[in-house]
Amino acid sequence: MDSTTFLFVSPHLDDAIFSCGGYAYQLASAGQRVIIATFVTADASGGSALSSAARRDLRCWGGGRAIFARRCSEDVEAAEALGASTAHLGLLDATYRQDENHQFLYADSVLAAPVHSHDVRVFKPAAQRALAALLLQYSDQTLTVVCPLSIGGHVDHRIIRQVVEALTSPHQRLYYEDFPYALHGSSTTLTSDLAPITIKLRAGDVEARLAACASYRSQLPTLFHARLDIPHLIRRRFSWLAPLAPVSMSLAGATRRMRNTICEHIQQIDGECYWKTKS
Ligand SMILES: [Zn+2]
Repeated sequence: MDSTTFLFVSPHLDDAIFSCGGYAYQLASAGQRVIIATFVTADASGGSALSSAARRDLRCWGGGRAIFARRCSEDVEAAEALGASTAHLGLLDATYRQDENHQFLYADSVLAAPVHSHDVRVFKPAAQRALAALLLQYSDQTLTVVCPLSIGGHVDHRIIRQVVEALTSPHQRLYYEDFPYALHGSSTTLTSDLAPITIKLRAGDVEARLAACASYRSQLPTLFHARLDIPHLIRRRFSWLAPLAPVSMSLAGATRRMRNTICEHIQQIDGECYWKTKS
């Protein structure tokens, strides 16, 4: 295999590894350089207000307001399980972002909402600068950039796809299906000018993806909770009771469900599915 650096672009801490962990491990174990670059890795500044969605997420994750140091260390642990390195680009989540008048940009939903004009002026250029600086570090190498399709319509995923497309050429891009959004969302309208490729996984690739995903301990109970996960429901609904229902109360079951869900998905598509520009 020729030596290529693979840059897996992740809007949030966990997207790329949840989606591409098997392929990332396969590449790294074949001696390729693999980097997992995540855009949203910063806490809201101490004094700023939080949207109700951000407060709910923080309760579900169970780590208080300054959660991102822990989330970044989970990501480093996950990447190490794959033989990859990380880059954390320090941007704010959509649920944190406010306009000049301190109005939250996505008060109702971050899914399928139009990209806010403030994001077009501020967040998107900041993301573009961060990615440009990263690409510059690898400008002397053959680089493949692995980019989210934005299945599920999360505004951060859509903006990051646009940023990648603005800064890379079609032949150096691969696209991945955003997991777990791909379990419920369709990729059809997002892949009209792309051709699918299935990457077959060895048992070791699958096990590495599962082990890496298990590192995202703060996220698993939110992403893979049972319908009647009482500690999770308490954290989600009742702020004053949340400290009595730590994330650890939901973690073992959520990790089991994550493993089963990923294994079923890999079996269904016979590997991991990617898309490239039609030649
Ligand atoms: Zn995401």
